[in-house]
Amino acid sequence: MTALQITPFVNEPYADFAQPKHAEGMRNALAKVRAEFGREYDLLIAGERRKSSAKLQSLNPSKPSEIIGVHQKGSEQDARDAVEAAYAYFPSWSAVPAEQRAESVLRVASIIRQRKYEFNAWLVFESGKTWAEAEGDVSEAIDFCEYYAREALKLASPDPLVQLAGERDELVYLPLGVGVIIPPWNFPLAIMAGMTVAALVTGNTVVLKPSSDTPTIAAKFAEVLLEAGIPPQCFSLLTGSGAAIGDVIVSHPKTRFISFTGSRDVGLHINELAAKTPKGQRWIKRVVAEMGGKDAIIVDSETDVDQAVLGVLNSAFGYQGQKCSACSRAIVDDAIYDEFLARLKSKAEALTVGPSDEFQNYMGPVINERARQSILSYIETGKKEGRLITGGEPAAGEGYFIKPTVIADIDAKARIFQEEIFGPVLAVTKSKNFDHALELANDSEYGLTGAVFTTNRTKAEKARRQFFVGNLYINRKCTGAMVGAHPFGGFNMSGTDSKAGGPDYLLQFVQGKSIAEKIS
Ligand code: NAD
Repeated sequence: MTALQITPFVNEPYADFAQPKHAEGMRNALAKVRAEFGREYDLLIAGERRKSSAKLQSLNPSKPSEIIGVHQKGSEQDARDAVEAAYAYFPSWSAVPAEQRAESVLRVASIIRQRKYEFNAWLVFESGKTWAEAEGDVSEAIDFCEYYAREALKLASPDPLVQLAGERDELVYLPLGVGVIIPPWNFPLAIMAGMTVAALVTGNTVVLKPSSDTPTIAAKFAEVLLEAGIPPQCFSLLTGSGAAIGDVIVSHPKTRFISFTGSRDVGLHINELAAKTPKGQRWIKRVVAEMGGKDAIIVDSETDVDQAVLGVLNSAFGYQGQKCSACSRAIVDDAIYDEFLARLKSKAEALTVGPSDEFQNYMGPVINERARQSILSYIETGKKEGRLITGGEPAAGEGYFIKPTVIADIDAKARIFQEEIFGPVLAVTKSKNFDHALELANDSEYGLTGAVFTTNRTKAEKARRQFFVGNLYINRKCTGAMVGAHPFGGFNMSGTDSKAGGPDYLLQFVQGKSIAEKIS
């Protein structure tokens, strides 16, 4: 039983920016945040602010001449100090009652809610999210805090076990120890906050190493943790190059677990490194690794083609295709293939691309110059592998803008059908029938999200059984997972299927201890 009175979880509502009061709130926040551009932020090692000689700058991808924030490149020593400090404070934080930890995390939610427009604005400028995408990300961060606070309370009073005669039998969950939290830039608040608070609320201490593309959002989040009363010794904010300090924190013998979300290659590298047991390490490290996707939408012959076009369009081009859940493969039945492509082309060509702080734009920039180059190079490959329907080139402007691109008649073995591009590029292929479509959809090393558009119940049931993905959607888009409703995580090379935002997620941050006491 818990003394903390808490209402059932509900998802954070989205602001409708068509309403003048919300639009004005956003415009004011954009101006306020703009006035803070270029500020320098410190490393935060268990509450101690530090500077380093090497700096990293985060840029506005809509206008790369603008510096959003200047951050420290943490050294290997900073990285080791962060792990040691988290280790030293673990006995104290793990002894704090679950209710108290949950209350702190609920305060984190409440502060972010109060500063929602401001956080939205940082996301617009530092990660290139449009207003609506930023609103979704910040709302999801609030949801994670609210949801995991409630789940932590449940873990603190688990269901009773079978009671043997003459015994009291119980199962308790203990936190693991020092967690290394490595999030990506594409949900720079939601995923970072979710991974961090999940570890903290269950009693672990953490070293948070944010992405070098979105460190200012991480610095703002660290301020919120402190303001919410999370003891400063509970966490470190360690900015710097993943490649330079990542290995130090992952391989440190006092690190107990790694919670990673990012690309397949980095995830596999971390998994391999974490499997080694350096001298003095007393446990097998636990790795939660959520990785890439090559997500497919099946469009059946029996479907409302307009609905399917909209579903594919939103899933492929929302946030410029830079979601792990983004649709990058459309598998369309032969019977409606030409009609589908014609409608998709006209809808894609109507999408506006430009600076993400301008509300009317549906698509903003891709994250950085390296991503821009890589995506454009995939587009060139795609032009050889298939037939360009629309896009296929940069869009006008100083930012890293790329037109929404559709390439049809792609073979299932083609590179753009198999490799994660992480940009606004959709490969379309033709299926002979529904079984063939499922076969093509499952022909991937990834298994994150997928969707099926069909009005045929038997086919929908078949997809439930045979479409091998962690998150399957029927007659809706394959992006936009909601905390509590769509526990999120994928199969195979998409990762460890941790199911973020679901009832099993926190189990990855604890270990069960069974206690049997003879009482008669
Ligand atoms: P990334 O793998 O390049 O980087 C992720 C994080 O790892 C960053 O913080 C980076 O600094 C860090 N890093 C890099 N090298 C490291 C090393 N050697 N040791 C430790 N840390 C290191 O990925 P990204 O570009 O930030 O994000 C995009 C990728 O994330 C895509 O592949 C996308 O599909 C995936 N993603 C997956 C999910 C999911 O839930 N499955 C969610 C969001 C994004």
